[in-house]
Amino acid sequence: MNIQNYINGKFHNPIENNWIDNHCPANGEVYGQIPNSTKVDVENAYIAAKSTFPLWSQTTLEERSRILIRISELLEANLDRFAAAESKDNGKPISLAKAVDIPRAASNFRFFGNAITQFASESHESIGQQAVNYTLRQPIGVVGCISPWNLPLYLFTWKIAPAIAAGNCVVAKPSEVTPMSAYLLGEICNEAGLPKGVLNIVHGLGGSTGQAIVEHPDIKAISFTGGTATGAHIARVAAPMFKKLSLELGGKNPNIIFADCDYEDMLNTTIRSSFANQGQICLCGSRIFVEEKIYEQFKTDFVARIKALKTGHPSEADTNIGALVSKPHLEKVKEYINIAKEENGIILCGGNEVTVAGYENGYYLEPTVIEVPNDDCRVNQEEIFGPVVTIMPFKTEDTVLQMANKVKYGLSATIWTNDLKRTMRMSNQLQAGIVWVNTWMMRDLRTPFGGVKASGVGREGGFEALRFFTEAKNVCIKY
Ligand code: NDP
Repeated sequence: MNIQNYINGKFHNPIENNWIDNHCPANGEVYGQIPNSTKVDVENAYIAAKSTFPLWSQTTLEERSRILIRISELLEANLDRFAAAESKDNGKPISLAKAVDIPRAASNFRFFGNAITQFASESHESIGQQAVNYTLRQPIGVVGCISPWNLPLYLFTWKIAPAIAAGNCVVAKPSEVTPMSAYLLGEICNEAGLPKGVLNIVHGLGGSTGQAIVEHPDIKAISFTGGTATGAHIARVAAPMFKKLSLELGGKNPNIIFADCDYEDMLNTTIRSSFANQGQICLCGSRIFVEEKIYEQFKTDFVARIKALKTGHPSEADTNIGALVSKPHLEKVKEYINIAKEENGIILCGGNEVTVAGYENGYYLEPTVIEVPNDDCRVNQEEIFGPVVTIMPFKTEDTVLQMANKVKYGLSATIWTNDLKRTMRMSNQLQAGIVWVNTWMMRDLRTPFGGVKASGVGREGGFEALRFFTEAKNVCIKY
């Protein structure tokens, strides 16, 4: 199926009529083409957004809220269609797309449709100076949203929903590897009555289409989720134009297991936090540290449970591990398994490609557990972003804290313990934007989301996102 750009409420071929093949990860086949858009397509999207901005920014909050909630309802009504498209495009199990990705995309619109009606600004009376200050929160204008391939619609809408709720118009680009659900979203927006030009979706390559959005002098803010190297590049391009930037980048998150935890709960959740979405979630706990006392027990149980997981076609209901997103990504992950061997890591399970009968050219890899000899090795320091985790034992709270923090990233961390004081000590000292205790990826959309160090700048979620997508203007009146 071929897809088109969505500009000013209509679907268009790219101006230069250049196209990129779209591969299905489950069987490696080309199943459609997507626009290879240029600067001119981005400019057309910008013009549509700019012309609609005066109207949209003055639309009442109730009306904006109503439209966002309508988009949410239509996504829910089209759950099966969107889940099938997402699974085919990305390789993720259809069960995951149905239970998590698409419902969450719907929640993003519903949440920000409601949040905008509660978004208050501050006022201060300057006692003794006979003045009062109040702060306006004004939409920025035309903003750019660029998202990655791992949770395509989930992360795309996590940006778009707050941007339009706050009264901005958007030029957005999904990953070229997984454009399908973003394409379908255009139809839903029209059906929901979103005025044309509020949301414009331009498909294409990061280095050209994405770059054109970042370089555009009048797109005043960029909300980006993706790799750390791309984030650094975008920051360099955007800085001389003083754009507002929100960067959600890579992670190498520690999963720290103490002997006093609820063992079964920890084991079940650790399987999920290691391999959900083939380990291609920025929040996956890719470095597992286990207290020495229970290390051997954990190793045995964990590996046995991993071996029982089914790697298979994403459309089969009992598939636990689907396909990796692309051939180049599969090769990158395999290369890390080789690096682990060179670094004297022990492959406890997995490590090989899987041939799924009938889909021999798909990008399947066994879930892989590597016992590492030390925490400094590359597989323990670099983001692999695949179905690969490292494990190693630790003796004390201090040593594990040091190891947990000794990476360039700082997105999330998980701690398993029933000791309250330890929980408090560790949560305070872990260098991460998000700490989970006795759980993983439990999300409340009101909470701030984002990372420290090389995992990003700024926070998304709740009012943080609405603050990002607005400019604060203080007005001081002397009476
Ligand atoms: P990339 O950085 O390669 O790409 C992300 C997006 O940026 C894609 O749409 C890409 O387009 C685009 N892009 C690439 N180059 C440029 C450029 N020069 N200018 C503008 N846009 C550009 O990341 P991946 O898609 O590979 O995603 C995986 C990464 O995302 C991992 O590092 C992961 O940790 C991170 N991530 C972070 C999250 C967080 O919340 N912190 C959440 C999810 C993922 P195209 O794909 O078409 O090249």
